[in-house]
Amino acid sequence: MTRFWFAIPLWQRVIAALGLGIIAGLLWGPGAESIKIIGDIFIAFIRMLVVPLIFFSLVAGVAAIGDIKKLGAVGGRAMLLFLVTGQIAVWLGLLLGTLFAPGSGLDTAVIEAGTVPVPNETTWREMLLGIVPQSPVQVMADVNVLPLIVFATLIGIGILMAGKDGEPVAKIFDSGSIVMQKVTAIVMELTPFGVFALMAWVAGTQGTDALIALAKLVGLNYFGCLLIIFVMYSAMIKFIAKLPVVDFFRGIVDAMAVAYSTASSNATLPVTMRCTQRNLGVAPSVSSFIVSLGATVNMNGTAMYMGLATLFGAQVFGVDLSWADYFMISILGTAGAIGAAGIPGSGLIMMALVFGAVGVPLETIALVAGVDRIMDMMRTVTNVSGDAAITTTVASMTGDIDREEMISADDV
Ligand code: ASP
Repeated sequence: MTRFWFAIPLWQRVIAALGLGIIAGLLWGPGAESIKIIGDIFIAFIRMLVVPLIFFSLVAGVAAIGDIKKLGAVGGRAMLLFLVTGQIAVWLGLLLGTLFAPGSGLDTAVIEAGTVPVPNETTWREMLLGIVPQSPVQVMADVNVLPLIVFATLIGIGILMAGKDGEPVAKIFDSGSIVMQKVTAIVMELTPFGVFALMAWVAGTQGTDALIALAKLVGLNYFGCLLIIFVMYSAMIKFIAKLPVVDFFRGIVDAMAVAYSTASSNATLPVTMRCTQRNLGVAPSVSSFIVSLGATVNMNGTAMYMGLATLFGAQVFGVDLSWADYFMISILGTAGAIGAAGIPGSGLIMMALVFGAVGVPLETIALVAGVDRIMDMMRTVTNVSGDAAITTTVASMTGDIDREEMISADDV
């Protein structure tokens, strides 16, 4: 039995779990909530990995890059791709929202408003200050990824600057990151169970009812995300990275499934890292650096949704938007996506930033909150696929990818 189980590649077990979970949830109904605990345990184990994995592999990754110039080359290219793809994504959301007008003619009375999340009151000053790892221990205890990345990058740079004296510390981080990869492999074996339970819970508790009133918005959210994944990322992989598109997607199926079921880029981070390294052949130093950074700042699904949801709110409440407003949305939408944490529902909270600036009522957040999870799941797949696509593209630009490894990835 165990031999039979392990003979099936993990990604196939994960996809089967996803489908079976949805079927089980639809048949079972709200009672499926009772197995959500299995999914929660899975997520808790993955969360356990986040801090030590980022810390060890990012420090080791920065140190392994070898010199500070190369670090700038990798980081600079990644940031440029994050920003350009983010802008394209928001404008796509605005285009879809304008063409299909999901919010016009909507009878607000039929919408069952979800719980109203606390509006985001973080100011830009606080956001900037929040990036500084004032107390590294606190940052780790809070699983606060952005300042942790800053801290780990600084230690890596310190190791590079220390030269020979830094080598013993570099060795500790190297070995720590290998150990953490093994621990990740153990936790990954829980994926089929976690994915099954989470899918059953979503399908069982949300059913199909919640989708009907907001079906258009949800449909457009999925459509936009699919365009980003299969058009923008495919083009990037084919024309910039010059790699086989199908193999790329086959290599990241695990990460996509975990992203879809957890709705969290952070929770998926260990899986994304493993997929890019093991299945796509990206050098661990480059992958740990870009994937960690991307999980927090690169959110194209969220950016697209910012544009779409703002237009939705404007249409529902009859707010006229000018071209200047569109530009404002495009800038704040990208900023909001960068600022959103890689956790479930953070995009929803961040919308307050954009809505406030263009005069769309915050009630819109309550309107869409009920179906946010279903959209969040797809946004997260888009965000995570983007992290993998940009990591792979940058690695191919800087020659940090083993193409043979990628093409022969058949036991993903
Ligand atoms: N849940 C998303 C993520 O983790 C962020 C969002 O809410 O859009 O990537």
